[in-house]
Amino acid sequence: MALLATLRESSQRIVIKPNVIAHMARHRQLSWFSREAGGQLFGAIRSDEVVILAATGPYRGDQRSRSSYRSNAKSAQRAIDLNAKNGLFYLGEWHTHPEEHPVASADDRSAMSKLLRASSTRLETLLMIIQARQGVAIYSFGAQGFVEWTVSDGAVLHACEEHR
Ligand SMILES: [Zn+2]
Repeated sequence: MALLATLRESSQRIVIKPNVIAHMARHRQLSWFSREAGGQLFGAIRSDEVVILAATGPYRGDQRSRSSYRSNAKSAQRAIDLNAKNGLFYLGEWHTHPEEHPVASADDRSAMSKLLRASSTRLETLLMIIQARQGVAIYSFGAQGFVEWTVSDGAVLHACEEHR
């Protein structure tokens, strides 16, 4: 089942496909010794929605601890190039947190702003998904600053839309 992320003040939405949700959920930090995992997000950009179609990582050579994650730069770039060949845009990053409910840390925010400045693409906004033990949080980082999106179950929203 897909997840949807929306903003009250915007008609834009983010769709997260089930395979992406499953990929991130496999790396949840369910035991006291599991380390953070993460990687990159890829998909399609349309006028009214961003669809996250694929997630990659973690990679060999990543820097991983209980409370931090950084992708191996070469592996991340390889994933970006490979997905570009398949027509999928690099959209941003995902990583896990050992906490029950995900909250972006100050380090997460500064990492995203660094990535955005370093980004050689035309991307004006980068997405960040945090997979906690229970549930995910989705943030965008760009001209509007750091914005947390409201995540909801895709099936529920679709049902509501059909009643309009
Ligand atoms: Zn984090």
